[in-house]
Amino acid sequence: MDADAAPTRSLAAPLRAAWTAGRHMLTHVARLALDIALPTLCVSCREPVDGEGVCAACWAKLSFIERPYCPRLGIPFVYDPGPDMLSMEAIASPPAYQRARAAVRYDDVARTLVHALKYQDRTDLAPAMGRWMARAGGELLKGADMLVPVPLHWRRAWRRRYNQSAALAQIISRQSGVKVKAEVLHRVRATEQQIGLSRAQRATNVQGAFQVSPDRQAEIQGRRIILVDDVLTSGATLDACARALLRAKAAQVDVLVFARVVEIR
Ligand SMILES: [Zn+2]
Repeated sequence: MDADAAPTRSLAAPLRAAWTAGRHMLTHVARLALDIALPTLCVSCREPVDGEGVCAACWAKLSFIERPYCPRLGIPFVYDPGPDMLSMEAIASPPAYQRARAAVRYDDVARTLVHALKYQDRTDLAPAMGRWMARAGGELLKGADMLVPVPLHWRRAWRRRYNQSAALAQIISRQSGVKVKAEVLHRVRATEQQIGLSRAQRATNVQGAFQVSPDRQAEIQGRRIILVDDVLTSGATLDACARALLRAKAAQVDVLVFARVVEIR
């Protein structure tokens, strides 16, 4: 009996080490298996979904923007005023960008999607959101030379690990064949979050915050550019980006976003 017990004792240490290593591996494998086995939950209603992160019922709740809308700003009209009629906003305070298009109105479901993509690493939402954007921006994409995502300041990009606008631009590029040039535009100044600021404060906050790198100006000159972002609220950020691109002699700047705020009157 003693003779049998001895080798067991001498093997105890390496066995324990192997067991610990094996257990680590098993935990890792188990976690992976769990990730695969757990169904993706709809970001909006938390029901399990196949594949992409929003269930059919929640997609149906989104308010897709369809014609008639202002040909300049893409703001939906309640009734059709006829071709080439501009919205009050386009006449009263025209932005630096030429045209804007959005896939959906920024309502509760849209806000959930945007927040999940931006703050919760739900990159699985980008393909569906980007495809709807490509559809909404079809007219803009036809004549465009490049897509430029609204840049984050490097400090914010570091914290958030990825830029949601760039993720959307990549999907739109795959749909349309228009290439993405993310490096041409930079956020040279960290700005406060626009949330909670008035329209005027928003404009001041982002003034001069964006710049085209001097060595990239030649790529911008004479080009038709589409700025890509997740949301258009007051349009101040996109306007500041458009100004920077126009200063670098872009021929035209349009805007394509997933959701836009539509004031109900
Ligand atoms: Zn849902």
